[in-house]
Amino acid sequence: MGTVRRPYNRAMTAAMTHAPAMTGLMKKAPGAENVGLGSVPRPGAGPGQVIIEVYATGICGTDLHIQHDEFASDPPVVMGHEVTGRVVEAGDSATDWLGRRVATETYFFTCDACDACRAGRRNLCPSRRSIGSHVNGGFASHVLVPARNLHEVHASVGEHAGALYEPLSCVTQCLCDPAVASPGDTALVVGPGAMGILCAQVLRSQGARVTISGMPADRRRLDIAASLGLAVVDAADLSDATPAGGFDVVADASGNERGIDAGLRAVRKGGHYVQVGLTGKPISVDIDLVCLKELVVTSGFASTPRSWRRLERLVADGHVVLDPLVTDVLPLSDWQTAFERTRRADGLKLVLDPRRDAPT
Ligand SMILES: [Zn+2]
Ligand SMILES: [Zn+2]
Repeated sequence: MGTVRRPYNRAMTAAMTHAPAMTGLMKKAPGAENVGLGSVPRPGAGPGQVIIEVYATGICGTDLHIQHDEFASDPPVVMGHEVTGRVVEAGDSATDWLGRRVATETYFFTCDACDACRAGRRNLCPSRRSIGSHVNGGFASHVLVPARNLHEVHASVGEHAGALYEPLSCVTQCLCDPAVASPGDTALVVGPGAMGILCAQVLRSQGARVTISGMPADRRRLDIAASLGLAVVDAADLSDATPAGGFDVVADASGNERGIDAGLRAVRKGGHYVQVGLTGKPISVDIDLVCLKELVVTSGFASTPRSWRRLERLVADGHVVLDPLVTDVLPLSDWQTAFERTRRADGLKLVLDPRRDAPT
């Protein structure tokens, strides 16, 4: 690992020579909790790098897992990987990006030598080091990223909703290469969180007739899904809403044992089951259903440049809308409220906007 860390550390050393401090929401030390606001040097852009002034960074289940030490991180590190903002500084060969509103892929470093990297699957590189877990991320006023990771946010997308590009890239990675649904298919998405509603919109773009299921506590989320023209159903009534023989496609975006079990039961024989949600721990489900139904089971991890290109076209063509999914915008200083509400599934996508913090 020593050799793979060097490029980042060198970048930080250079950055630390010019720059005032900024406040970041950090994983401060290993172990559960140890999360809080801290001071870090404001970074500077080296060759091929840019500085993004952060407009919004989304709170993700992964951030909660990092908080509880259930997801690998390298503290002290500024958290946050669902970043959008404007490029305010650019190093050599990256100046074309100055002034543009962007979202960013999350990989700060990949080895570019392993089989995964050489096959264009940097998401599977064992040496991958990502912003928000191993390299300073987006819960701060500014973030340093490689320019090659940038994607311009479409003009139709609001300045906070650009934070949903990264989660959408994970959804297109799961659902689009190849497309899991065909025109006329029936599809069920389990779990009406941000990932679920993104999944439902992508499956609809593939021509499927989509239903999204949730629990009674998900009422507000289901209402947002319904406002986007999606069919919604309470999980308790799922059997009534299931087509004869089952759904052609089921995508689990709940990461919940009961939701996954319901999904495996609702998919038809020979159907396609996609695991999008992470459970964060081993769970117990009837895996025999995969054999007994001859299911095709697929998934996806993080994103690839190809999944980003795809999301850009889905957003530009209006197949996926993002703005209604951002229910709350809070300053960094309210991070505890935002994390707690995300844990309780209160709201849909909560984002932190560092511009809303009092100047320090
Ligand atoms: Zn995320
Ligand atoms: Zn690699």
